[in-house]
Amino acid sequence: LFAAGIVLGCSAQQKPISKQNASIETKVDSVLKLMTLEEKIGQMNQYNGFFDVTGPAPKDGQAAQKYEHIRKGYVGSMLNVTGVKDVRALQKIAVEQSRMKIPMIFGSDVIHGYQTISPIPLAESASWDLQAIQNSAKMAAEEASAVGLNWTFAPMVDVMRDARWGRVMEGAGEDPFLGSKIAVARIKGFQGDNFDDAKTILACAKHFAAYGFAESGRDYNTVDVGESTLQNIIFPPFKASVDAGVRTFMNAFNEIDGVPATGSRWLQRDILKGAWKFDGFVVSDWGSINEIRIHGNAKDGKQAAEIAVNAGCDMDMEAYLYIEHLANLVREGKVSEALIDDAARRILRVKFELGLFDDPYKYCDEAREKATVGKKEIHEAALDMAKKSIVLLKNEGNLLPLKKSGQKIALIGALADDKTSPLGNWRNASKDGSAVSVREGMARYTGNSVVYEKGATVSLNTDVFAREVKVNTTDKSGFAQAVAAAKSGDVVVMVLGEVGYQSGEGRSRADIGLPGVQQELLEEVYKVNKNLVLVLQNGRPLTIPWAAEHVPAIVEGWHLGTQSGHAIAQVLYGDYNPSGKLPMSFPRHVGQLPLYYNHKNTGRPTMPSPDEVFWSHHGDVAHTPQYPFGFGLSYTTFGYSNLKLSQSQFSKAGLIQVSVTVTNTGKVSGKEVVQLYLQDLVGSTTRPVRELKGFEMVELAPGQSKTVTFAIDEQTIQFYTANKKWEAEPGAFKVFVGGSSDANLEASFDYVR
Ligand code: BGC
Repeated sequence: LFAAGIVLGCSAQQKPISKQNASIETKVDSVLKLMTLEEKIGQMNQYNGFFDVTGPAPKDGQAAQKYEHIRKGYVGSMLNVTGVKDVRALQKIAVEQSRMKIPMIFGSDVIHGYQTISPIPLAESASWDLQAIQNSAKMAAEEASAVGLNWTFAPMVDVMRDARWGRVMEGAGEDPFLGSKIAVARIKGFQGDNFDDAKTILACAKHFAAYGFAESGRDYNTVDVGESTLQNIIFPPFKASVDAGVRTFMNAFNEIDGVPATGSRWLQRDILKGAWKFDGFVVSDWGSINEIRIHGNAKDGKQAAEIAVNAGCDMDMEAYLYIEHLANLVREGKVSEALIDDAARRILRVKFELGLFDDPYKYCDEAREKATVGKKEIHEAALDMAKKSIVLLKNEGNLLPLKKSGQKIALIGALADDKTSPLGNWRNASKDGSAVSVREGMARYTGNSVVYEKGATVSLNTDVFAREVKVNTTDKSGFAQAVAAAKSGDVVVMVLGEVGYQSGEGRSRADIGLPGVQQELLEEVYKVNKNLVLVLQNGRPLTIPWAAEHVPAIVEGWHLGTQSGHAIAQVLYGDYNPSGKLPMSFPRHVGQLPLYYNHKNTGRPTMPSPDEVFWSHHGDVAHTPQYPFGFGLSYTTFGYSNLKLSQSQFSKAGLIQVSVTVTNTGKVSGKEVVQLYLQDLVGSTTRPVRELKGFEMVELAPGQSKTVTFAIDEQTIQFYTANKKWEAEPGAFKVFVGGSSDANLEASFDYVR
């Protein structure tokens, strides 16, 4: 049989089948039936890039083994190999030296751009601009595909409610509805239309599931969450990703209800591949099959491999356990060969869809690489996205926008002249120091008339990639100069917050205030000059209660990528009117976490009440967020009026139209994200106090009005009920419309059977 396989495999003219005459499934079958068990398992094996690919082949050690495995056809995919030269060199080994000549796919974490860095995903999500987000992913795909990549491990679609978690920078915030829309936009941007050209790449919805619900926001920590929250809050962006045609999924490091997600049959086989009919493949997270053992759910690596493959994890990223144990597990009858076939089939299917069997070097075009990476159009998209991501949190007395002349500016803060931090985490190939700093961005408006003082260092690390960021908690030697500069300015602009590597994987924080001595610096400067604009740069919501109370103007400037300084300067000087809205609540105090707008009612009031001695609150902090989900100001103001429902009730086949008039009541043109929330008053399981169900962006000139209409139908009000099904329950609903999750224009309707 083996010999026959060789004969058939090799005689099939290099490519086992041709593109035109068979459907993908037939093609997959025809390849699969020629493969040995080991070769099928090889498809399920993914290795990290390892040695100087274009140099001489390594003779020993792990690198030599990986090399040998590629030659044998035992590697289905590689990650972190980038650059056409390297990708081509490895692909050549796979398609010229391996028996079956199956091309590999090349993955990498292109999270917010490859070399040209766009805003961190959390920031992009603040734009609520799905078209811009899709375009940003498209540009990232174009650049990444030009360096030989055909797979990104993005988007991260984990819903998250705890800003202590470092990876909130990588997600779309706290809301499943917004998160689903953004997941779909990103997937469309990355994958394009059926991989019709080599500028699109595979997307990967991750981390399935509940990775964003780590206890205390500590990365990798235990997750303990009930089925109702899983189904109603955590699953929707994943389900939307499947429906949008995402071709790969990544499972997760965490355990959930006692089962490591990587080994969860319920998640991967029953939900994802069963109920949702996902026919792409699931890759493990980095070494996460081995972590099943470390979690204490498998006695050794072999058992971990058995659990993972039976659970439906198709590809092993860097745990080396499938390649080591699966063949024996099949021979011992612990894993059925049908499951191996199923996994290999899924991976081959995706390779056919990508067009790699027709041209394994489809993504290896040196000329395109040269012409694409860092090209003007991609930088322009990054700037556009950066501007749209900025959120104006406060603007008392219209301190902003700054005047283009006649105003002396004192610019203060280490981050104001930092060309590295705005790149954020997951900056991939982008070079350290390649972002435009705020100081540089402002120079276009102010020439050299800005007085700049650092005031205080944030991070003491010389290596910006260092595992642990060492924060300056003592050195205030620059305060005096900063205070003197502040005195000399008509307006002070302070750029404070987190350095790029204070958020991201493994970078959770227990205190999410301004790191180090920055808070003290802020208060010292404020003492001498109250015309103060605070620009925040950060990868997560921060607690800034003092600033929220005292500082007249606050701009949320996130980690906005390569074009950060230009975007921030354009907002500060009014050339761009900010329109971002927070995708995550900003708490007043870290002790409030997890804090999210779509919470449940308790059995107690959340306001002091004469009838209840014990009400649900913290005695030492207000129970509201500092800035709620959906909140963001503009240089103009918007009025909401005329909320109308087309009828007061509807039934299964019908719908209700909700309309509202939005008016620009200020003096400049601006964009507003009009938001629709619903409350289901009584449910078979308890229901959130409100849930986002629609949004639309309108652009209005001063004095102009527009009527925005939303449709509510049976699907809008469905949820995962006590019957363990998605269904609409009859009853009364409230509608809230406005420019934030605390919108108070309200109406009501009934859903009847
Ligand atoms: C992360 C994944 C990432 C992978 C590969 C892991 O540590 O959790 O999100 O895709 O590494 O870099």
